[in-house]
Amino acid sequence: MTVTRFAPSPNGSLHLGHAYSAIVAHDLAMKDGGRFLLRIEDIDGARSRPELAREFREDLAWLGLAWHEVPAQSTRLARYDEAARRLLADGLLYPCTCTRAEIDALEPRMGPEGAIYPGTCKGRRVDPAKPAALRLDVDRALALTGRVTFEDDLAGTIVADPRPHGDVVLVRKDAPASYHLAATLDDATDAITLVTRGQDLFTATHVHRILQALLGLPVPRYHHHGLLVDESGTKLAKRRNSPSLADRRRAGEKGLLLAEQLRLHKFPSGISLVSA
Ligand code: GLU
Repeated sequence: MTVTRFAPSPNGSLHLGHAYSAIVAHDLAMKDGGRFLLRIEDIDGARSRPELAREFREDLAWLGLAWHEVPAQSTRLARYDEAARRLLADGLLYPCTCTRAEIDALEPRMGPEGAIYPGTCKGRRVDPAKPAALRLDVDRALALTGRVTFEDDLAGTIVADPRPHGDVVLVRKDAPASYHLAATLDDATDAITLVTRGQDLFTATHVHRILQALLGLPVPRYHHHGLLVDESGTKLAKRRNSPSLADRRRAGEKGLLLAEQLRLHKFPSGISLVSA
């Protein structure tokens, strides 16, 4: 049985790209009588707005999707903490007190998520008075896991290489886990068999696969779908001014019709699907 999930962060309204992503996940689960889960990724306390979680549910219902909602990330902090402690005890994490400005000042190489951490705090004693994040020592992690792979529905068998992300943060200064740690643990807890998300998160999967190997978690299959872009080829995003699903809903647009159009890859004018 296929179990998929849609895992939005309640820090901005959903837009067409999210609708497409939710429909892909929903339909892949329904194809074999599986389950489609909704997980609210509200790990980002300060930026999370509870009213948006309500809006997301209304959006999904408007699109005609049925889902089962699993506990939000804010209720799972003990699990993240336990995993982080384990990795720390295994010598796979190190504290880092660097600020973003300090990292930028070193003119680091750029990776898929911005600056690649140049490793300043690695192997160093950090000032215990300063707030610290915990970073994964990727070289050590790889030495332990050896070669691991994951299967993507569209891209085939991929050898996981987290190095382009550098020593990623797993425990943030301001939150008990980063997206990488929280989502990887949650997908295991929720018994997800097929992780569906946009190709913009393809490289993140390399990091997640290494975490699965380190923590002994089950390995789901992946389906990284293409992304909806506007006329300029820019990905639709919460922060750019593509109309939100809530705006469309309130303007009287028919959600069921929109969902059918998205399934047929008939997108509103100016919007297209790009696949790597
Ligand atoms: N919370 C993430 C986002 O909104 C979802 C990431 C995922 O599907 O793994 O981008």
